[in-house]
Amino acid sequence: MANYFSSEFKLGILGGGQLGKMLLNETRKFDIYTCVLDPSAEAPCKIASNEFYQGDLMDFDTVYSFGKKVDVLTFEIENVNVDALHKLEKEGVTVYPSPKTLETIQNKAKQKLFYVDHDIPTADFTRFAYTNEIQTALKNETLSFPFVWKSAQFGYDGMGVKVVRTYADLEELPNVECITEEMVPFKNELAVIVVRNPNGDMKTYPVVEMEFHPTANQVEYVICPARIPDEIAKKASFIALKTSMAYDHVGLLAVEMFQTQDDEILVNEVAPRPHNSGHYSIEASYTSQFEQHVRAILNLPLGNTESKVGGIMVNLVGAEGYTGEVQYEHIERIMNMPGVTPHIYGKKQTRPFRKMGHVTIVDEDINEARKVAEEVKKTIRVIAKDNTLN
Ligand code: ADP
Repeated sequence: MANYFSSEFKLGILGGGQLGKMLLNETRKFDIYTCVLDPSAEAPCKIASNEFYQGDLMDFDTVYSFGKKVDVLTFEIENVNVDALHKLEKEGVTVYPSPKTLETIQNKAKQKLFYVDHDIPTADFTRFAYTNEIQTALKNETLSFPFVWKSAQFGYDGMGVKVVRTYADLEELPNVECITEEMVPFKNELAVIVVRNPNGDMKTYPVVEMEFHPTANQVEYVICPARIPDEIAKKASFIALKTSMAYDHVGLLAVEMFQTQDDEILVNEVAPRPHNSGHYSIEASYTSQFEQHVRAILNLPLGNTESKVGGIMVNLVGAEGYTGEVQYEHIERIMNMPGVTPHIYGKKQTRPFRKMGHVTIVDEDINEARKVAEEVKKTIRVIAKDNTLN
């Protein structure tokens, strides 16, 4: 086995945001040497990596020449130049997760077809080369309102997704390659993180549940373990494992799923990297998702995925109406609450809804943690220093 620890070995990470920053906590722990590429000079990863490079992740030459400097290459963001990854892999650089998987995932139409081909349950959908072709489908009655429109490429954090109920909604959408999906009136949104190394060893983290704000339709809490019956959890874990095997995946794979009204599990989408739904694992699990990703891509033994304690995660996003130098109002108040740990990503500027950090709440009793999480949510605010409303 190669020696990764306190050695000449170099791990390359494409993307230098918060996921990379949390990954670097683990490479620091193991004294594994890292190189990071990110377009921003103020990337959160800048201070924790051994070598930082500023450059465009979608540019072939930039990604290719960065990849040539390292022994193993991974990514913390999906929007990277996949042609460069294919070429690097051909030339002997180990790239995990595989460029082939990334290519499938980068396009939602391809991703959905992959599920159909591999007998993985997913919501019914139709593929369109351009949004304006949807009009014809509606006229021919092969499609009807309401449906969920998704841009095929570069949708990120809900920006490429819209519920379409009328022709007027349709007019607001960009004319791009897209899919339309049946609207699933789900009972729960669940996620399972699967980890797999090149040896084929596999483990799953417990099923987590996203709890939505009753009116704003925004995920408020990620709760581990999900408050669902055992047989549903088993079904979700099984489908997540099946998905990871279908991709022949190496590294972390976060599988997002819907639990339907009649308790079917449908795969919504996957992320081949550490994921927001696994942040709780830093405090609540024996092995955090970030340590686990490092273990998996380096073909090291996988760690225990079980939880030590119940965990809830609350995202810290910029408050509406504030743009400018960030300030975490009342952070000391939440730090005074039992089992609360804030994570601040290190972005200097806040703007409405920007992901600036998260807070983990742990407790033996998940219902107690849930109460504290609500207090956290009510107390801390991400605002701008000069408090100028924009
Ligand atoms: P993104 O890649 O932007 O995260 P997703 O496909 O995860 O996009 O969709 C974002 C959210 O929209 C989901 O978390 C879910 O709440 C909702 N959503 C997506 N697809 C459907 C669907 N078919 N039916 C109902 N809600 C959906």
